[in-house]
Amino acid sequence: MTAYPHLLAPLDLGFTTLPNRVLMGSMHTGLEDGRKHFTAMAAYFAERARGGVGLMVTGGFAPNIEGWAKPFAGTLATQGAARRHREVTGAVHAEGGRIALQILHTGRYGYSPLCVAPSRIQSPISPFTPRELSARGIERQIRAFVRCASLAREAGYDGVEVMGSEGYFINQFLVTHTNQRSDEWGGSYTNRMRLALEIVQRVREATGPDFILIYRLSMLDLIPDGSSWDEAVQLGEAVVKAGANILNTGIGWHEARVPTIATSVPRGAFAWVTKQMREALHARGVTVPLVTSNRINTPEVAEQLLADGHADMVSLARPLLADAHFVVKAREGRAQDINTCIACNQACLDHAFQNKLASCLVNPRAVRETELVLRPAVQRRRFAVVGAGPAGLAAATALAERGHEVDLYEGSDRIGGQFNMACRIPGKEEFSETLRYFGRRLEATGVRLHLRTRASVQALMASRPEAVILATGVTPRDPRIPTDEGAPVLSYVDVLLRGAPVGERVAIIGAGGIGFDVAEFLVTPPGHSTTLDLPAWLAEWGVANPAEVRGGVVPPRPTPPARQVTLLQRKAGKLGKGLGKTTGWIHRAALQMKRVEMIGGVNYERITRGGLFVSFGEARKDGQLIECDTVVLCAGQEPLRELEAPLRAAGLVVHRIGGADEAAELDAKRAIDQGTRLAAML
Ligand code: NAP
Ligand code: SF4
Repeated sequence: MTAYPHLLAPLDLGFTTLPNRVLMGSMHTGLEDGRKHFTAMAAYFAERARGGVGLMVTGGFAPNIEGWAKPFAGTLATQGAARRHREVTGAVHAEGGRIALQILHTGRYGYSPLCVAPSRIQSPISPFTPRELSARGIERQIRAFVRCASLAREAGYDGVEVMGSEGYFINQFLVTHTNQRSDEWGGSYTNRMRLALEIVQRVREATGPDFILIYRLSMLDLIPDGSSWDEAVQLGEAVVKAGANILNTGIGWHEARVPTIATSVPRGAFAWVTKQMREALHARGVTVPLVTSNRINTPEVAEQLLADGHADMVSLARPLLADAHFVVKAREGRAQDINTCIACNQACLDHAFQNKLASCLVNPRAVRETELVLRPAVQRRRFAVVGAGPAGLAAATALAERGHEVDLYEGSDRIGGQFNMACRIPGKEEFSETLRYFGRRLEATGVRLHLRTRASVQALMASRPEAVILATGVTPRDPRIPTDEGAPVLSYVDVLLRGAPVGERVAIIGAGGIGFDVAEFLVTPPGHSTTLDLPAWLAEWGVANPAEVRGGVVPPRPTPPARQVTLLQRKAGKLGKGLGKTTGWIHRAALQMKRVEMIGGVNYERITRGGLFVSFGEARKDGQLIECDTVVLCAGQEPLRELEAPLRAAGLVVHRIGGADEAAELDAKRAIDQGTRLAAML
């Protein structure tokens, strides 16, 4: 008996049977882009094969240089390259897994002067204008796809995924927004979808019937002039007839102004689109397995979607970065032990877009499987960890996992530190999953947790640890702005943790991650996070049913803000510049929808009972009063490490991690990574 009968049911593809309904969706990790990374890639996928995933898809490989996502991006176009892939496929097969290679031609999205497209129309997210392909050029691209698929088969892959969505090359042919050709590749829809069909049909012919061919179908473009629903269904049916044996769901072009995978997107937010496609295809007699995707991060959500007939498989990408053993844990009834992806993008997508190797905020071992190894300790020793925020939790559990004896001291009545504030922000509810996970890890690894215990130097000395790990975190910075007696000033901790009453008009001092979070908290009426209310979220971001509106976009209908908020910073320029590469725009857009006023380049002159006086420029000119009844300080943090000097003076070895080590630009990614790495070394 299992709690997940649909998720764990095998899937018969005719020539092969997948052991369950979990597809590891394609995810660019950066390992694709260098020969030197193939051993790491083999270890990365092998660990996930051991974790029981039914079928995995690699990050995208270009079929030729015109298809490059960026110069020298991973390409599979020669026999020599195919030989290197054998290390990956061999490692996966040795673990009993299955793996398909994704063929990704980025078309006009390529960050490369060599990029090509159906028409010479630059995308809003690339500085390069694509070269318009001639008919011969198009034929060359098709042949490159076919060659890439054949080489993948030679390299031992169980299949390929043809990337037909997200606004990439094939997608660019499908819609008039990017295809303004008048030859046989443009104009009518039959012409515009010819490229997709030629590719699928010729790939199938070249690779034979016993090869998995997934087509990623854009079911909801989320751009004006995107595909109509009838066109998407017509294409779905046609690619299956042309030889695809699994259809995966693509949601939103990269240039779409609707978040599709960020943490504020409700779980399973787009599964209804796959369900609608599945029903439409079934009505036409097409019963190929459909995969649903986007923000499916727990076995419960996945099971429910499959049980309700939304799809035949679920695609998880980031959740398998966060926990390679997701499937095994679900199978063994240990879902509570899963390290849940919180959809923050901070170490995966943000890294990929910064040309850094991806990893995972909650699992720094992801994509570092060969480098960051928690080996059993040669000798069991005793460690004291002070502070149970993300850094302390990571260090304590990793040390204990290695076999050390660990005492973890926490002054408050709960673990989690700053995460206890993060999970109260509307749209960041997922962060509580990390607290649940670490709570379980503490129990499983046998860490002795001492809550409501401020560790003193004497007590620490008496416990005779090998070393003390100082993870005492941060304290909010006081920006020391002249303040009148009785003026209404609060810190973000008062607002988020202590439930301090806040007025109708608020000025927030500091527009870093926390200033933005506090603004989001204050403009949202209590209990009205749209992340927990799918219809409200869809309305807020202007997502419509593509069967009713071409492309599925309509004007956003945000709920009115709960308060009038002004967000300020001293730096000139755009607010929120330092936020996540792939999520900053979402935070900015969300606050703009709530009419938050954002003002940069200010000097804070005085806080009075009537509001906040600011001036501008070095000359401190143009003073103005921002009328408000509450001022909230979000001016960064200072490290808390007063224990360090006395501990060292007493002769103890001390290691600092997290905010206690470096408060500037502290984030949980660095904290967890630093705690884990330290624990691996000790
Ligand atoms: P932060 O990102 O360092 O921002 C601090 C803000 O305070 C800045 O806007 C800064 O802008 C202002 N500031 C600094 N010193 C000041 C002073 N003396 N007087 C007045 N203003 C001052 O810190 P945070 O917002 O506290 O966030 C801490 C960390 O948590 C961040 O590094 C972030 O990585 C992480 N976090 C991220 C997110 C997210 O990405 N969504 C959310 C929450 C937390 P000016 O100097 O221009 O005034
Ligand atoms: Fe998920 Fe964040 Fe990890 Fe990416 S970094 S896999 S979004 S938890």
